[in-house]
Amino acid sequence: MPELPEVETIVRGLKDRIVSKKVIKIEIKDKKVVSTKIKDLLPFTITNVTRRAKYLLFHTNTSTTLLCHLRMTGHFHYPQNKEEVQSSKKYLAATFTFHDNSTLTHNSIRRLGFLKPCTPNELHTLLQNLGPEPLIISKEEFYHRIAKYQTGKIKEKLMDQNVIVGVGNIYAQEALYQSKIHPAKRIDTITKTQFNLLHKHIQQILTHSIQLQGTSVKNYSHLAGKGGYQNHLQIYQKEQCPKGHATNTLTIAGRGTYYCPTCQK
Ligand SMILES: [Zn+2]
Repeated sequence: MPELPEVETIVRGLKDRIVSKKVIKIEIKDKKVVSTKIKDLLPFTITNVTRRAKYLLFHTNTSTTLLCHLRMTGHFHYPQNKEEVQSSKKYLAATFTFHDNSTLTHNSIRRLGFLKPCTPNELHTLLQNLGPEPLIISKEEFYHRIAKYQTGKIKEKLMDQNVIVGVGNIYAQEALYQSKIHPAKRIDTITKTQFNLLHKHIQQILTHSIQLQGTSVKNYSHLAGKGGYQNHLQIYQKEQCPKGHATNTLTIAGRGTYYCPTCQK
């Protein structure tokens, strides 16, 4: 967490709030998370906020882009009243003040993410090995990119950001459940029909979750509150699948994985 729908929701929230605003002051409280080099850019205007994989990109009126990865617990606040200003001070990493006196804070509970300035070359180097976006990838490309890892386990490759981006532990489990594919299934035993089904379910689940502003389990919140997709999860952290079978768990690539031994083969 967060995965593609959560990062996309945060990006949309930021876009609505801070595009075309000029940053006039930056106070950095946590240098491990927020690079002090950002201050060298002052003053600068945010021209756009976009997403690539699980990265947030703050484009500016300079050639420098601010790159942010939230990891497990990074988040942003754009406080509107005293109460929100107070809660934005929790786990504070940095405060950005705009020309209109509004502020944006970056916060990080576990301090694993980062926010740093990148030149166009640095950005290219950091992002060049990322796989395609799951909402854009065609059925054919999805099949070809994964099928070549014949002896790999399907869930491991779904979560590999160099193969396809944005699908993390929760959505991989949901998509595999809905496609009736066992998460540890060897890739060379998966049929083309099953691949097509998986492609379809990944796109449906991610789209639905974006509509509901993501899944709020543990710490995720976007700029206006919590997401709603946690109410639609079918297998993640469930003791029973929707058909009433007892679920099982196993560890794949170091991550706990729920599956239904009856539904998923
Ligand atoms: Zn089942």
